[in-house]
Amino acid sequence: MFIDTHVHLNNKDLNLKLDEVLKDAYLNKVNKFIVVGYDKETSYLAIELANKIDNCYASVGYHPTEIKDYTEEDYKELEIMAQNEKVIAIGEVGYDFHWDTTTKEEQEYAFKKQIEIAKKIKLPLIIHSRDAHQITFDTLKETNAKEVGGIMHSYSGSSSLAKEYIKLNFNFGISGPVTFKNGKSMKEVVNDIDIKYLVSETDSPYLTPHPHRGEENGPKYIPLIVEEIARIKGMDIDDVAKNILDNVNRIFGGKYE
Ligand SMILES: [Zn+2]
Repeated sequence: MFIDTHVHLNNKDLNLKLDEVLKDAYLNKVNKFIVVGYDKETSYLAIELANKIDNCYASVGYHPTEIKDYTEEDYKELEIMAQNEKVIAIGEVGYDFHWDTTTKEEQEYAFKKQIEIAKKIKLPLIIHSRDAHQITFDTLKETNAKEVGGIMHSYSGSSSLAKEYIKLNFNFGISGPVTFKNGKSMKEVVNDIDIKYLVSETDSPYLTPHPHRGEENGPKYIPLIVEEIARIKGMDIDDVAKNILDNVNRIFGGKYE
C-alpha cells in the first residue's frame, strides 16, 4: 500500500477526470493521499476532496508565486480553514525565485505569516523551495519552525543541507526526479539520509517519473518512486512502503493513519 504525500487533485488537469485518476491510483495500490493547496481556491478544494475521497487529507496554504494580492483578511481566512479536521498541514509555502511574479520581500512576508499560523495551530509545514535553498533554511531556522517541522517537498538540495534540516525537524519528499538519469542530487539524498526521514510524493500533474516523462503525472506512478528508493537503499519495496507510512504517521502527529 502506497501513499502520495503531495498530489494536486485540486488542479483542474487532474480534477476534471478525478474518477479515472483515482481508479488508476487504486489499480497501482496507491490509496492514501495528501492534497496540497497553493492558493485560496485550491486550498478550499483540497478540503472538499479530503471529505470526498477515502484516506485523503488536505494541506492548505498560499504558494510564494500566488501571494501578490493577498491581504490580512486572506491570512485570517487561511487560519480558519486550517482548523478544519481534514487539514493536517500548512502548505505549500516557501520561496520560489524561478518565477518573478512576486518580490523576495513579498514572499518572505507571506512565508513568515504562514509559519506563524502553523505554529499557532500546531500543524506541520509543507515547504516549496525553488532556487532558494539557503534562504528557505535560514527563514525556517530564524522563525523556529522546528516546533512544528514538516516536509521539504520534492527536495532538491544537497545531503549536507538535508542533515541540517533534520535538526529542524524536517523530512524529505522524494518525487519523480529520483528516477531521472540526471536526478543525481535526489538519488544522493536517498542514499545518504535515513529512511525514517523520507516520504513518497508525485507533485502530479507535474514532475512525471521516468519512463513516462512527457506524459501527465498522476498518483498511479508512486510505485516507480518507491521502487527507486528501494533500489538505492537495497531494501525491499514493501519494507520501504511500510517505513514511509510510519514516517507519515509520525510527521502528522498520528492524524494520518
Ligand atoms: Zn506542489
